[in-house]
Parts: sequence; C-alpha cells; structure tokens
Amino acid sequence: MNGTTFISVPFTWLLPKLKSHLKTSYKFSPVVVGGPAVKAMPSFLSGISGVTVDTGDIKGVLQRFEPLATKTTYGCIRKCKFCLVRKTEGKFTELDEWPNLPIVCDNNILASSGSHFQKVINGLVDEWGWADFNGGIDVRILTKYHARQFARIKKAVLRIALDDNSYIDKWISAVKLLTDLGVKRSNIRSYALIGFNSDPQEAWARCMFIEKSGIMPIPMWFRRSDAMYKNKITEEQKELGWSEQERLRIMSWFYNRTILGSGHTKKSNMYIKKSFFSKIKKETNLNG
Ligand code: SF4
Repeated sequence: MNGTTFISVPFTWLLPKLKSHLKTSYKFSPVVVGGPAVKAMPSFLSGISGVTVDTGDIKGVLQRFEPLATKTTYGCIRKCKFCLVRKTEGKFTELDEWPNLPIVCDNNILASSGSHFQKVINGLVDEWGWADFNGGIDVRILTKYHARQFARIKKAVLRIALDDNSYIDKWISAVKLLTDLGVKRSNIRSYALIGFNSDPQEAWARCMFIEKSGIMPIPMWFRRSDAMYKNKITEEQKELGWSEQERLRIMSWFYNRTILGSGHTKKSNMYIKKSFFSKIKKETNLNG
C-alpha cells in the first residue's frame, strides 16, 4: 500500500524469524508490523530502521487471512489466566458495524447486549443460512434466549469450551439447553485447553468425557504469551508430566478421530482442516 509493506503476525513464535528478515530484506522500504503477536510483545520489533510497530487494528486484515471471517466485538469480559485477549484487545467492545460474514471470530459473543446479538444472528439467517462461531461460546452465560437464536440458523457450528472441570455443570447444562432448543449435537464442538495446569491423565479424561457426551472435542495446547517456540514443552509442563510424545499422542488422536471423521459442514470442515490439522500433520509422523 503506497510503497509500504504491512505485516500482521498472529503468533509470537514467528517474531524471531521476522525480526531477522526485517533487518535484512526490508532495509529500503517502510514496513508496518501489527497483529496479535505484536500486540502481545510490542517491544520485540521496535527500534528496527524503517519498521513501525502498530498495535491498532487495520480494517480488512482478518478477511485477508480468511475471506469468510468477521468480528462483531473485540475483547472479553473475563480475564482467564491462560488467555491473551485482555492484553491484545482490551475491554469488551461491541462494534457498530461489521462485515456480515459466516465465520464469526468474536472472543465472547454472548457477552454482547441482546440487541447486538440479535443483529448478528439476523444477518447470518438472512444472508447465509449457516455460521461457524469460531471464537468460543461461553457456557457460563448462555441463556435460553441465546440458544433459541442459534437454533434459527440452519447450520450453526458452535464451539463451546471445557478448559477445566470447575464449570463442568454449566457445560452440561449448556449442551442440554442448546440441544433441547434445536441446535444439533453434531454441530457443537468443545475446545479443551490442555497442558496448562493439569496432567495428561486429566486432559485425556476431560476430552473423553466431551466425546462421550456426543460433542466433538478440540484439544488446544497451551502456549505461553511470550512463547518463542511453537511446540516446546515448558518446564512447568514437564513438571505436570507432559512430554512432546504425550502432546502429540493426545492431539493427533482427537484430531484424527473426531475432526476428520465427523460429518460437520463442508465449509467448516475445510476451515478446521486448514487451520489446525494440516499444521499438526506436518509436525508428527504418528499420522502416517
Ligand atoms: S472467556 Fe475466552 S476469550 Fe475470554 S478471557 Fe477467557 S479464554 Fe479468553
């Protein structure tokens, strides 16, 4: 854009490579760097000649990554210890307008007002007939109203989360509420944070519980907010009993078994495969 190169960095472990690249390849043209990793570690790329660190948001960047993705809110009302959203997006904010697209990446859309939520659902029902709520549905604040609204969308893939067992009762009630009010069980997924504050046995038990409840588990490996290596097992994780082999065992088991074997929508299937599985497959030879 006007001779300036814009680079959005999604993950912190990409920063070291980018830094050395910026110091060599972009010597003579201006570069603006931004994105979640830069917001998490704004000083990492500062001080490089010709490089501007921008911790704001540039319109349309999300659609460059995924043309069907949108965000209708920023931030979150919670401060989960393992999550970067408070740091990178700040307080919860509803947008006045947004591209009406079916992959909804809000961090916590249920924290929005009734009128905002209704507007999002109306747009999806009227224009798309399907949706993938990719950013997470907070089971702790799900109401009948939300469940009824979700059920209005013909094919709505919902991603709830069971990151630990402290709110398992709410998780169970939310699944019941959603399915009672018309959301297909096969369209519900559940993220499960692993490698954070529990051992492999607990992680397996939680993922198996999700699966036995008829919900597709999506294990999410915990990485620190300043992680410089994508999959390095930290000292804290080793103390919890994790090893690289254990990490790969649980990740590949559930990604192979549930995600690839599921009957969810073609579009969201493609999206999950692209976003998660292909990366894991490259890293592990357990998949053959
Ligand atoms: S509810 Fe989700 S988005 Fe919000 S802080 Fe917790 S993990 Fe992050």
